[in-house]
Amino acid sequence: MKILVINAGSSSMKYQLIDMTDESVLAKGNCERIGVDGHFKHTTGDGRVYETDVTMNNHTEAFVQIKNALISDEYGVIKSLDEVSAIGHRIVQGGALFSESTLVTEEVISGIESLIPLAPLHNSAHVQGIRACIEVFGEAVPQVVVFDTAFHSTMPPKAFIYPVPYEYYEKYSVRRYGFHGTSHRYVSARCAELMGKDIKDLKIITCHLGNGSSITAIKGGKVIDTSMGLTPLDGIMMGTRTGSLDPSVVTFIAEKEKLSPTEMDTLLNKKSGFLGVSGVSSDDRDVTAAAESGNERAKLAIDILEYDILKYIGSYTAVLGGVDAIVFTAGIGENQQSHRSNVCHSLEYMGVKISDKLNDEMIRGKEGKISTDESSVDVFVIPTNEELVIARDTMALVTKK
Ligand code: AMP
Repeated sequence: MKILVINAGSSSMKYQLIDMTDESVLAKGNCERIGVDGHFKHTTGDGRVYETDVTMNNHTEAFVQIKNALISDEYGVIKSLDEVSAIGHRIVQGGALFSESTLVTEEVISGIESLIPLAPLHNSAHVQGIRACIEVFGEAVPQVVVFDTAFHSTMPPKAFIYPVPYEYYEKYSVRRYGFHGTSHRYVSARCAELMGKDIKDLKIITCHLGNGSSITAIKGGKVIDTSMGLTPLDGIMMGTRTGSLDPSVVTFIAEKEKLSPTEMDTLLNKKSGFLGVSGVSSDDRDVTAAAESGNERAKLAIDILEYDILKYIGSYTAVLGGVDAIVFTAGIGENQQSHRSNVCHSLEYMGVKISDKLNDEMIRGKEGKISTDESSVDVFVIPTNEELVIARDTMALVTKK
């Protein structure tokens, strides 16, 4: 069975075609600048690359590019579209409506649409992606939606209710939802596998550290708390997002600088974090390089990031009542060994011991344990694979009778 996995954004659409017989990636690519000018890149599992500037006015035109590439003589990986058995979509916001992956129906599309106020850019793009998919692939190809928020739906109210007047939870569904759920679910399950233990018996803290970052506390396979909130702005400092702040900082700056809510939203989401503090870049590699060459603000940005990670691990260890394993994943978690090293050495008080050699080796897609046998907490680096989870959920739902 071959499954197409789609991650539709407002002006981009990423895809992977996965052969579920061995879970190999047959092809992957990205349609960028949809509705602007358009750039398309398609790479096959055996290394053929097709890249072109091409106008894509909307998501349907982007799907036509994907379809043509998948079946093309030169860059194709399938003979006809009939080989695509099902399509799985990543959906950012499932709200309180969706606590698990589900087959797409008109009712499900309406449900995703009803959550647009909670994730305006993301959910509206996902709906465009689903509708475009129906146009290009036809109604007969089953589609499945997999939600970033679903894995977090097990959080108790004390973790998800904000201490603002309760009526805003009732009126507008203002609460913590959490994101990156598919990633936290994948790496926590993989962690239990690597430990050779049942996840039901484990307390795990998963650190998804990328451009967007979130940390999650998982007890017995269920999320009990996570750092992102109503939106992906909450939690630890990120590439361009602030993470948690004293809310008065927002009203104070808005008043002083006479910023509208939309301008303030841009400042908090696009101009802060690594970029805002360092003044160098939102990219960890650039900031780390600047810090190494003596840039004090870049050094400060890195100190803040590592301090935030440390604080979350400390507080989640408290709420879990101990911790069996800590997992690092995503661009920074998988590749920036210096942050892992600084965080883990600061956790020695609770029995964490890592091997600097193993930690240095665990980069660029490598998976494994970086803690020593003496460590009372296992520490892993596990490359995330959200597309595979989406493909697995899709297969499970379309083959379920
Ligand atoms: P992500 O959002 O998961 O793609 O992560 C992006 C972040 O990971 C950026 O801040 C990058 O600087 C950082 N990163 C560090 N090393 C690498 C690497 N070798 N490949 C990709 N991202 C990296």
